Amino acid sequence: MKIEKIETFVCHARMRNWVFVKVITDQPGLFGWGEATLEWHTRSITGAIEDVSQLLIGEDPRRIEHLWQMMWRQHFWHGSGIVRSTAISGIDIALWDILGKIHGVPCHQLWGGPVRDYIRLYSHLGGGRMEDFYEIPEDNAKQFAELAIKTVEDGYTAFKTMAVPSTAPLEGNKPVRAAEACISSIRDAVGEDIDIMVDCHARPSPAMGMKFAKALDSYGLYFLEEPCWPESMDAMAQINSVTTTPIATGERLTHLAAFRDLFAMRGCEICQMDITHCGGFTEARRIAAMADAYRISLAPHNPQGPVSTAASLEFGFSQPNYIICESVHSDVPWREDIVDEGFVVDPATRTVQANDKPGLGISINEDEIKKHPFEQELPQRVFYRDGSGGDW
Ligand SMILES: [Mg+2]
Repeated sequence: MKIEKIETFVCHARMRNWVFVKVITDQPGLFGWGEATLEWHTRSITGAIEDVSQLLIGEDPRRIEHLWQMMWRQHFWHGSGIVRSTAISGIDIALWDILGKIHGVPCHQLWGGPVRDYIRLYSHLGGGRMEDFYEIPEDNAKQFAELAIKTVEDGYTAFKTMAVPSTAPLEGNKPVRAAEACISSIRDAVGEDIDIMVDCHARPSPAMGMKFAKALDSYGLYFLEEPCWPESMDAMAQINSVTTTPIATGERLTHLAAFRDLFAMRGCEICQMDITHCGGFTEARRIAAMADAYRISLAPHNPQGPVSTAASLEFGFSQPNYIICESVHSDVPWREDIVDEGFVVDPATRTVQANDKPGLGISINEDEIKKHPFEQELPQRVFYRDGSGGDW
């Protein structure tokens, strides 16, 4: 059995171009799907997949670990840069999809069978509609509360909001009070039984991140995400150590050694490795095992396309420390035209029953993808009041 061809399919989905990877074998009808979406780097990714593919054509797709080692180590440059690691991830996910199809079982069965009965989903406020998640003015606490109520009415028991404004390296109380007003308004609207997550998007400096974390600590957040740059791991650890709110991070880390450093510093309580960036299932499983040694939970980053979601769920059914699956459902209205999913969502509780179809359990409609060809992503550029450049 040999890998014959690796193809990429780009599907423009408003905020992102989804990049799907199809690994095709020489066996009739045997292929696998992966995802390697990396917004604002779409052309780099399709090129990187083409480059990495040269190592794999003609190889046995069942030797996944061996192929992963080749992709990560060969041709001199290690696979730890975000573009290469995302390319490797997309291919790796597709290889596991193929292996599941060969054995006629879902991926999670390959890894020891399901460890739980269901997985809880959380939503972005607004369901992933770009304007509702990223673009509400932070002083509009009422609008945050209205979206929160709508999310709970949609069946979700947990959701994430970006109610922390972008700030210069040091600012006074105004942005901190604005964030607090939003979260207070959301908590009043949904009550104590709903889990609220706040994503700081790694915009604050360590000093501002500390201020936001302390101001929001009394609202019982489920977690506070990226309160400072991932490069400031020591500051992340400091914030984690002084707040009761568990800190979540990891979506921008791309290899095992980076997670080792994060965990050893106790930089988080929730690891958000992205299966489509961190080296696919092969590396994610190693990161998960290491996290478990520290009793750190897993909530993989997953705002991308439908292959990424199927991957997160297959992973979640196999991992004891997995706590919740990030999901978006309103990013584009034609999401369900692109994919048939093997898992089943209960709309009343937004919980998921495991897929029982082989591999990832999905089929992708290539004709539907062709209706949404590549378009340049909208620029998302942030400048502070004085005109200096900031983080999105
Ligand atoms: Mg995030």
